Amino acid sequence: MKKVLLILSSIILIIPLVYIGSLVFEKFNYVSSFTDHESKSLNIETNNKQKEMNNFPLFRYNPHAEKLGIIKKENTKCPVCEQEREYVYQGPFYSEDQVEGICPWCIKDGSAAKKYDGEFQDAASCEDVEKEEYLVELTTRTPGYSGWQQERWLSHCGDFCALKGYVGWQEIKPLKEELAKDLDVIKSDYDLTQEQLEEHLVNNGSMQGYLFECLHCGKHRLTVDAD
Ligand SMILES: [Zn+2]
Ligand SMILES: [Zn+2]
Repeated sequence: MKKVLLILSSIILIIPLVYIGSLVFEKFNYVSSFTDHESKSLNIETNNKQKEMNNFPLFRYNPHAEKLGIIKKENTKCPVCEQEREYVYQGPFYSEDQVEGICPWCIKDGSAAKKYDGEFQDAASCEDVEKEEYLVELTTRTPGYSGWQQERWLSHCGDFCALKGYVGWQEIKPLKEELAKDLDVIKSDYDLTQEQLEEHLVNNGSMQGYLFECLHCGKHRLTVDAD
């Protein structure tokens, strides 16, 4: 009889224990599936951002657009692709519509220029190149840059050069031999002596230099403008 009672009471004790145990187990499962879900969506988000960075367009004529502040890391709702983007173009865009907030991806694939029938660089202010397609790539699929006056785009070896940066005399001093031809043209255009040029040509000053580099032979070229 005592044995039967013992078995019965242990069964009575075990049932709630099993029940509580299953509840705890379920709760644990729920929590872990929740965390799983959270971390998955977080992963997808990071992956998307990673993807966006991996796909960040390369512009051969303007490879330092982000460093030069022409493309800024700033949220935009691009009017072309209508997507929320983390990078926005802040250079010139010549079109009949006043357009702002273009993302670099819509520059790269030509959709921004196509949608607004616009150009990022004035075709008339470009030096000559061998192929028409170079001009199309520069004016419709490359970020421009902002100068004091109408921006010029220099060429060499039959192709457009890459914009290297905004410069003054300090920055180009080591390149003065290489740039001699361009410097002579600049001095004659602005009626400056060598001393006056060195004094006036200052980065972020009233006479601004724009340094280019040939994509084929690496030669540097220079153009300037003034406010
Ligand atoms: Zn876009
Ligand atoms: Zn060259």
